[in-house]
Amino acid sequence: NKLRFTGKTAIVTGAGSGIGKAAAIKLATEGANVALFDLLDDRTAQAEAEINAIRPGSARAFDVDTSDPARVEKAVLETAELFKKVDIVFANAGINGVLSPIEDMKFEDWQHTLSVNLNGTFLTVKYAVPHLKKQGGSIIITSSINGNRTFSNFGMSAYSTSKAGQVAFAKMAALELAKFKIRVNVICPGAISTNIDQSTEKTEELKEIVIPVQYPQGSQPLSDGPGTPENVADLVAFLASDESVHITGTQVYIDGAESLL
Ligand code: NAD
Repeated sequence: NKLRFTGKTAIVTGAGSGIGKAAAIKLATEGANVALFDLLDDRTAQAEAEINAIRPGSARAFDVDTSDPARVEKAVLETAELFKKVDIVFANAGINGVLSPIEDMKFEDWQHTLSVNLNGTFLTVKYAVPHLKKQGGSIIITSSINGNRTFSNFGMSAYSTSKAGQVAFAKMAALELAKFKIRVNVICPGAISTNIDQSTEKTEELKEIVIPVQYPQGSQPLSDGPGTPENVADLVAFLASDESVHITGTQVYIDGAESLL
């Protein structure tokens, strides 16, 4: 068993659950020391304990709201002090937010979704770059198939806008940071079994615009159902590793062909 991340430090946001947790476990299993950024709750402490029990990489949980600039800046600094460097950044924390028709969506709800998903990505990358520049590294951003399409996701104007913004940001960052040997890629999962629905709030008005989804017969997605966080973690590890050294500025779908329907 080769360990691809021995001696590497990774920051994973949204690491207390779902895709972030699976990716943190995967990276640590292959040797990385992992800083778990999340809104500190029992789940993040649990992830920290699980990883420290597995080793060889170790984990430290940091109480970070990724949309809070001061908090992100401080946690990145503390990570660099604790683990001596930063090589890998998985900017993954995200919420579905409030689903609502546009005309009924409260401005603060719109702003909250944009703030966590888009500002959070920007802030995580911004404060990590000075550390990544020292030796190069890999940034992976979690967007969604909804960054490029709208299929069946009524009421998700804020979410889809934030996810599309992440794709544009990743491409700009890839170009800007290439000269520092920092790669930036963005992943677009389809449905993955996680706790994300807990972050969904549906307004009453939404009912009016919900249209039942009907897959054309015989054109179900390739997979039997939703993907697993571990499926996504395998992709994240590949993009974080030197195996993908020539891949940057790319958007990678991981959706069992869901986006093609
Ligand atoms: P999840 O809810 O299981 O995990 C998300 C984690 O992010 C949680 O632990 C949560 O506490 C954390 N988080 C939320 N707001 C935060 C904040 N402000 N600061 C720090 N941490 C915060 O969901 P998941 O499905 O693993 O989501 C991870 C990413 O994957 C999100 O960006 C989501 O948009 C994206 N995604 C998920 C799916 C899916 O079907 N699950 C599909 C496409 C994209």
